[in-house]
Amino acid sequence: MRLSGVVAFLRSISLGFVEIVSPRYCMVCGGHLSAAENMICGLCRAELPSTHYHRQPGNPMELRFKGYPTVERATAVFRYARSTPFARAIHDFKYNRYPSLAVELGREMGRRLLTTGYLSDIDIILPVPVHFIKRLHRGYNQSECLARGLADVTGIFIGHHLYARRPHRTQTGRTLEERRMNTENVFAVKRPEELIGKRVLILDDVCTTGSTFIACADALKKDVPGVKCVLLALAATEDQA
Ligand SMILES: [Zn+2]
Repeated sequence: MRLSGVVAFLRSISLGFVEIVSPRYCMVCGGHLSAAENMICGLCRAELPSTHYHRQPGNPMELRFKGYPTVERATAVFRYARSTPFARAIHDFKYNRYPSLAVELGREMGRRLLTTGYLSDIDIILPVPVHFIKRLHRGYNQSECLARGLADVTGIFIGHHLYARRPHRTQTGRTLEERRMNTENVFAVKRPEELIGKRVLILDDVCTTGSTFIACADALKKDVPGVKCVLLALAATEDQA
């Protein structure tokens, strides 16, 4: 057997061993993953609810930001609907300590957008921050994990210029007005001089009313002359509730 054959044989044994000692399951359907699959099986990946908003100027997500001139364009890669397997997977990476699922979904977003040119003029990715107390409690910021996956595929740098000045409570179950008040002046910008004149990609997990994105864009507009904001969510609800 040639050396490459020996390596392939040993690799197949080791992957098989990993499968035996640590069975891996799809985070969407719960089905068994093959050695070549990571976090989400091929079938679920193909059936993720794409929006194709990036091809659609004036898409339903952009309508949330009408009247905000700092926001140049906005898209969400997937549709978010409660009680679906995909929504449960998002809940898992957000609350059930599966940050690697967020990284993988960040890669999936990158793969879907890379060839479209949607991100070709982006200077830097700015993940939506969480307050450091929440980050300590959760152990990670899911938007940073998404950004890591997106950066893996696109090669765009991640910036940590946005930060949360105070904890803001969950947006779930709040009215539009309550959400806006809840996020008003929460975010601020570190080292704003590094972002002057740049086109930044603000990245978040789920967009409902858009109030979190608006709060981030407002903070950037206030402190960074000439900044242009592009908004990207992993998923967006179809309505704004
Ligand atoms: Zn699956």
